[in-house]
Amino acid sequence: MKLLNYVNGQWREGTGPGETLIDPVTGEELAKISSQGIDIETALVFARTRGGPSLRQFTYAQRAEMLGKIADALAANHDEYFRISLLNLGANQADASFDVDGAIYTMKYYAKIGRALAEGKMLKEGAPIPLSKTNAFAGQHFLMPAKGAAVFINAFNFPAWGLCEKAAPALLSGVPVVVKPASPTAWLTHRMVEDVVKAGILPEGAISIVCGSARDLLGHVREEDIVSFTGSADTAARIRSHVNVLRRSVRVNIEADSINSAILGADCSPGTDLFDLLTKEVVREMTLKAGQKCTTIRRVMVPRQHLKAFGDAVAARLASMKVGNPRNSEAKVGPVVNKGQQSSCFEGLAKLKEECEVLFGGDKDFQPLDADPQKSAFVQPALLSCKNGLDAKYVHDLEVFGPVATLVPYEGLGDLIAITRRGLGSLVASVFSDDASFIRETILGIGDLHGRILAINSAVGAQHTGHGNVVPSCLHGGPGRAGGGEELAGLRALLLYHRRFAVQGPVDCVTDLTGLCADTASLYS
Ligand code: NAP
Repeated sequence: MKLLNYVNGQWREGTGPGETLIDPVTGEELAKISSQGIDIETALVFARTRGGPSLRQFTYAQRAEMLGKIADALAANHDEYFRISLLNLGANQADASFDVDGAIYTMKYYAKIGRALAEGKMLKEGAPIPLSKTNAFAGQHFLMPAKGAAVFINAFNFPAWGLCEKAAPALLSGVPVVVKPASPTAWLTHRMVEDVVKAGILPEGAISIVCGSARDLLGHVREEDIVSFTGSADTAARIRSHVNVLRRSVRVNIEADSINSAILGADCSPGTDLFDLLTKEVVREMTLKAGQKCTTIRRVMVPRQHLKAFGDAVAARLASMKVGNPRNSEAKVGPVVNKGQQSSCFEGLAKLKEECEVLFGGDKDFQPLDADPQKSAFVQPALLSCKNGLDAKYVHDLEVFGPVATLVPYEGLGDLIAITRRGLGSLVASVFSDDASFIRETILGIGDLHGRILAINSAVGAQHTGHGNVVPSCLHGGPGRAGGGEELAGLRALLLYHRRFAVQGPVDCVTDLTGLCADTASLYS
C-alpha cells in the first residue's frame, strides 16, 4: 500500500521507492510513502490562493461549525484510528486514546469556544487609543488572519493530536493547512486528512498533506505563511536557520524537546498521599506511550532524605508492569516507534549510566511479552538515580525519548531551583507539596523557564489533569530548549495565525474597521 499525497485538491502518488512504515512489534511492513515528484511550491500556492480566500469568506462562527463537523467525522472513524495506532505505533488502548481522543477533544473544544467569536473578518485588540486633542485622530490594534498557508511539520509521537491541536486554531483563523507528518507514523495523520476530505466539510485547498521527506518545502514558504514545527531540537535549529525562512522573516513556531521535571516537596514523606500520588504519576509518565511524549517527566527532584524510599516505590510499581505486545492484554507498556528510536534510547541510556546508578530496568537483553526481541522495538523502562546533582551533564541535557526517568536528589530550595533550571527551558514542571510557601517560592524560581507548572497539594489530590496531559485551555510550549513556541491556551492560539497591526487614522475609519471585527471579549479570558 502506498499512501498518496493530497495537494492542489487531488490525491497524487509520489514517485520512487519512498519510505516504509513498519509495525514496531512484528517488524512487518505496513505501507509506503513518498513525496518525490510532488510539486510542493504549487501545493502551497494552491493553499494560499484557493484554500485561504475560500475559508475567509466565512465568519469565525461558521468556521467553528466546520471544526465541529470535522470532530464528528473523526469520531465516526475512531476505531480505525485505534487500529492504525496499534499497527504503526504499537499503541495499546490507553496510548491510542491519549493521541486520538485527545485530538478529537481538542477539535471539539475549538469548535465550541470559536463560536464565541461569532461574526467578523478579523479581531480587534484592546480599546481605541486617542492620538489627538480633539479625538479626531485615533489608533487601534487589530489582528488579521494571515493570507498565507499554515505549514505543519510534525513529530512521530502524536500523529493525531499533533494534527488537530494545530489545525483547529489555524482553520478557525481562516488559514489553510498544509501538513507534513513525520514519516515513521504518517499513516494515521494521512487517514484523518482523508476522512476530513471525504466528508467534504472544508473548501478546496483548505487542507493538504505531503507524506515523506519535506524536501524543498522550506524553500517555498513566504512572508504570509506560518511554519509550525514539532520535533527534536536539532531539526528545529535547521528549520529556524533555513535561509529562505530567515530572509523572508517567516513566522516559525517551534515545539521542541524538553527535559521536564517533577518535584517532591520535603514535606511529602513516605506514606503521605502526595508521595504516593507522585510515585504513580512518574510511573504513568514513564510507561504511557512508552515515555514518548514531549511532556514526559525526565527528571524527578527528590529531597535527599526521601531518595531511597521514592526510588524503591517507583521501582516496585515498574516491576509490576509487563512490557510487550499490546495485543496481549497483560502487557501494559508498548514499544518505541522503531528500531532507530530503540537504538537511540540505548545510546542515551548508556550516557546517563555514566553519571547515574540504575535503580530499575534498562536491560538491553530483556524479553518482551509475546514479541521477538530481534524484530520488535521495545525498551525496558529504566529508573536511574543521579550521583552528581547539579554537576551532571547528560541528566539535564539529554532527552532519552523512551520509558526513562532519573531521580535527582536536592538539598533545600536554592539547590532545587538551580537543578531544575539546568533543563534550560522546559514544557512543564510539576510540584507536589502541601507547603504553600514552598510551592510559591519554587514557582517564582522556575516560572520563567517553563511553559506550564502543575502544582499539586492534598486538596487537589487525584483531581489533577496530569503532568503530561496538554489541555487545550492552557498554554502548551516552553522557552529555551523547549523551542520558545506557544500553542493552545484557548483562543490565544489564534494569535499565531493572525498578524497584529495598528491603524492610526480618522476616528470614523477606526470605528468602521472595528465594526468588521469579531467579539474578542473571550480572546484573553
Ligand atoms: P524530528 O526527527 O525532529 O522530526 C520532526 C519532523 O521534522 C518530521 O516530520 C521530520 O520529517 C521533519 N524534518 C526532519 N528534518 C527536516 C528538515 N531538514 N526540514 C524539514 N523538516 C524536517 O523529531 P521526531 O523524531 O519526529 O519527534 C520526536 C521529538 O519531537 C522528540 O524530541 C520530542 O520531544 C519532540 N516533540 C515535541 C513536542 C512539543 O510539543 N514540544 C511534541 C511532540 C514531540 P521525517 O520524519 O520525514 O524525517
